[in-house]
Amino acid sequence: MKSDILQQGYDGVSFRKLGHEIIDFLADYLESANSPEGISANKKFDPEELYSDFKKMPFKGESLQLFQKVVGDSVHLHSRKYMGHQISPTLPVSALAGLVSDFINNGMGVFEMGTLGTAMERSVVQTVIDLFELGNEADGVLTSGGTLSNFTALLTARAIKVSEPIWEEGQTQKLGLLVSEQAHYCVDRAVRMMGWGADGIIKVPTNDRYQIEVDQLPLALKEAEDRGIKIIAVVGSACSTSTGSFDDLNSLAVFAQAHNLWFHVDAAHGGALIFSKKHRQLLAGIQKADSITMDFHKMLLTPAITTALLYKNGKNAYRTFSQKAQYLWKDSDTQEWYNLAKRTFECTKTMMGFKVYAALNEYGTPLYEEYIDQVQNNAKAFAELINEAHDFELALEPQTNIVCFRFNPPNIKGNLSEINARIRENLVEAGPFYLVQTELKGEKWLRVTLSNPFTSIIELKELLNQIRTIPLS
Ligand SMILES: *Cc1c(COP(=O)(O)O)cnc(C)c1O
Repeated sequence: MKSDILQQGYDGVSFRKLGHEIIDFLADYLESANSPEGISANKKFDPEELYSDFKKMPFKGESLQLFQKVVGDSVHLHSRKYMGHQISPTLPVSALAGLVSDFINNGMGVFEMGTLGTAMERSVVQTVIDLFELGNEADGVLTSGGTLSNFTALLTARAIKVSEPIWEEGQTQKLGLLVSEQAHYCVDRAVRMMGWGADGIIKVPTNDRYQIEVDQLPLALKEAEDRGIKIIAVVGSACSTSTGSFDDLNSLAVFAQAHNLWFHVDAAHGGALIFSKKHRQLLAGIQKADSITMDFHKMLLTPAITTALLYKNGKNAYRTFSQKAQYLWKDSDTQEWYNLAKRTFECTKTMMGFKVYAALNEYGTPLYEEYIDQVQNNAKAFAELINEAHDFELALEPQTNIVCFRFNPPNIKGNLSEINARIRENLVEAGPFYLVQTELKGEKWLRVTLSNPFTSIIELKELLNQIRTIPLS
């Protein structure tokens, strides 16, 4: 017997009803997050318990209740007390673009399948190329995250800088790259995935502000070459993940050029500062990069994951993958910008450009600029609070919205790392704040990323006061 379950699944009437209810619920949620009282950022769960609860499907057949539960009990990025990982509170219009793109589900490997998404993606890519002043030859794509973007860029680097036909015949030479010891772990992963092994990643020491020691580069290069490793690239961090430190990109560019190295800038977090006239000087020199990674979900209010991978010479991107996929393209040798899978890992790709385009369409670049300036100011204000307090210590003056600090009152007894780790655990357990921790020179520090633009000095003072009340033993 045939049931009508499929008809029900695609029924416009019930979709309309549920959709309105969910949007109303989200709008109420947003309003309470924005209200003076605000909402707590986090609720702690035990993974096993949570799994066993959900496995029982407690909301079976009750979609609205399920959706309300998910929103209500998740980490609240729209809370002014959210200061955790680097993801930003989504701009509602970008989230709506996400809903619409999920609904129409146009995959974006080839133009015929992702027409409007492809056009919007190029427009977004061109907007950032212009801001970075990459020049007329530049081009780029959007891809699924900074991790994948860095990996893709390094594959391009290998294709351009190594003459042997690795793609066809495999790799025989020992290859490597230079990067700061503070670089995101995905660079290390990319190196190993390319088969270069642990020897392929040469970690250059950093200075007291966690920026790459440019003076150490020639020695690092020579030592690697003495060990028979051909160095093909240098990677700059803009900024580093732990402390938000910007490498000196101008000096890295000079070094890369002098030694014929590919210059990649991992600007997953800090590339967004290009939207701010006040803060973009931190990225000085980035226009000389051969490739750049920049996330929109970190400091540009876009749903995860949306990342730009930009190339100074756009033609290089077509050399990343040279295997043939004739069934997709009539002529696989031509450089058709509109068949995006020629340059991306993804075959089917979400319409991620739409989420950025929708924001630019509604508010233009000034929205991003104001956001950046706001969170940068908040970080500065928080650093000043900490500097003024006799019982807190700053790890370094922040360059971006990432601030590392610790509780260190005079005459404190015990191990500072253990104490601060316990403080973080207590905060996350008790709420309403959510923050993370990081390890610097073997010691644990508290770490906030001030990504909510409505976080104010009030919440920042409240956080410090709450920490002061935590029992230390
Ligand atoms: C977040 C981050 C990444 C990883 O990006 P995803 O989008 O999370 O994959 C890479 N590099 C840096 C510097 C980052 O801050």
